[in-house]
Amino acid sequence: MDQHEYSFYHPGQPTAAPPQPTRSRMNAEQRRKRRRARMIRRIALLAACAAVAVGLLVMVGKVVVGAVQTAVSNRVDYTPVEYDLTGYVFNPNDPLLVIVNANTPLAEGYMAETMIADEATGKQLATQAATAYRQMAAAAKANNIELMLCSGYRDNAYQTELFNARKQKYLDQGYSDADADARAATIVARPGTSEHATGLAADIVTPDYQNLDTGFADTKAFAWLQRYAAEYGFVLRYPQDRQAATGIVYEPWHWRYVGVENAKAIAQSGLSLEEFVALNSL
Ligand SMILES: [Zn+2]
Repeated sequence: MDQHEYSFYHPGQPTAAPPQPTRSRMNAEQRRKRRRARMIRRIALLAACAAVAVGLLVMVGKVVVGAVQTAVSNRVDYTPVEYDLTGYVFNPNDPLLVIVNANTPLAEGYMAETMIADEATGKQLATQAATAYRQMAAAAKANNIELMLCSGYRDNAYQTELFNARKQKYLDQGYSDADADARAATIVARPGTSEHATGLAADIVTPDYQNLDTGFADTKAFAWLQRYAAEYGFVLRYPQDRQAATGIVYEPWHWRYVGVENAKAIAQSGLSLEEFVALNSL
């Protein structure tokens, strides 16, 4: 290139290149900045990946825990229903609302006409309750749920036998007669005070779970009963939150036939049979 051309590009300026140190310091700073930016981006990417991984793990964990819980409890949650109680009239003399408890023994000579309600167990219920139970068990079966009537009608002689057997157990353990008697009464109703003598009480379990304990509440059979029993005239007789009113511990297996309309009204009220009858009798 000639001088003129050179001057055109760099008028009056020395031809030397710009000082190298400045440029190289800038470059070093830029490199540092770039490195820092790259590092920050990598950290951010790693953090995002970790967050996604943790999220996925939590989701998978929840699914696994849910599946395990379902497998263990076998529970199905049914949507609660609101019953249409239009036209319901409470009848204080309705024999299906008879109350039998420790304070209210069954009238002497109470006669229950019974029939077999569950062919498999041979257990009986009062005729009307037996018919309702059969329909209920058939409906449950259609939903793949098997109900088992493990105790129904018990006459006074049988109840006396049950009570005395339990009392003897405590006598054998060294309790005094009075103590053994009182202890037995907390487990087995005294003769005349069990509503099983009416033929309207049904102890219901399922083949997979036949224990008469609160574990039954975790079965799908119980969940089904809670949702549908009222439609067949049965109510949970000793609910968990009504123990103070019934004087009986929670018995998820013990259902009581009261007729369809009464059952819907009682289920809707959330009260025990005692409370419902007392409240409506005012
Ligand atoms: Zn019972």
